[in-house]
Amino acid sequence: MSTLKEIKGNLKQAGFKKEDIGVTLRLFLCLESLDKLVFTESPVTVNFVSGKNPFEYFTGYHQRRNGEEIYNIYVNGIAALIREENKQGFLYLPSGPKNQFKPARYTQEEFLVCTAAHEVRHRFQNNFLVKKFSPRSANLVKDDLLKSVIRFEELVFEECREIYAKEKRSKVYIKGRINQKEFDAKIIERLVAIKIHGKNAYSLREEITSIIKMSAP
Ligand SMILES: [Zn+2]
Repeated sequence: MSTLKEIKGNLKQAGFKKEDIGVTLRLFLCLESLDKLVFTESPVTVNFVSGKNPFEYFTGYHQRRNGEEIYNIYVNGIAALIREENKQGFLYLPSGPKNQFKPARYTQEEFLVCTAAHEVRHRFQNNFLVKKFSPRSANLVKDDLLKSVIRFEELVFEECREIYAKEKRSKVYIKGRINQKEFDAKIIERLVAIKIHGKNAYSLREEITSIIKMSAP
């Protein structure tokens, strides 16, 4: 396993931009620590990729044909991509008595922690027969916040589907972004975001771990 200093050196040598290297290293630390908390016995490596992800993700979980599991970070342009995603206001916070969703400003750290939780959830989906959240789960869960999060995410997915259709995206692209695994991972990501917003994420690591391991009803 390489040290952070070695990774930084390698990324510099590969010619990546300074701001991309900074974000990459911070995301790497989030992925590594959350993965270790969930998969204590078998942590996996993080792979740094220079090419673009076909679904325009800046990070992803993959299992190779030989069974090896990895997290990819797509380093080129990652800082700008994250700024853009934050600006589009895809992250919301429940507020008020009815858990209405309002645009919320997240710090980069918060954004990276919930992104990492999303990817570790993908690994969890792949390794355990956990029941995944779907729009239908909203009728079955008892917790009001969880219910609102699922309903809200359903709206976000519908909106994305319309946007992709307008943008004339390929079927493969749409399937890569709108599917049950993504919906489920997004629920986890949003729950973690709500949990850690304005707080110290490190002190909430146990709670984050249990959210990642949650099962749908
Ligand atoms: Zn995902």
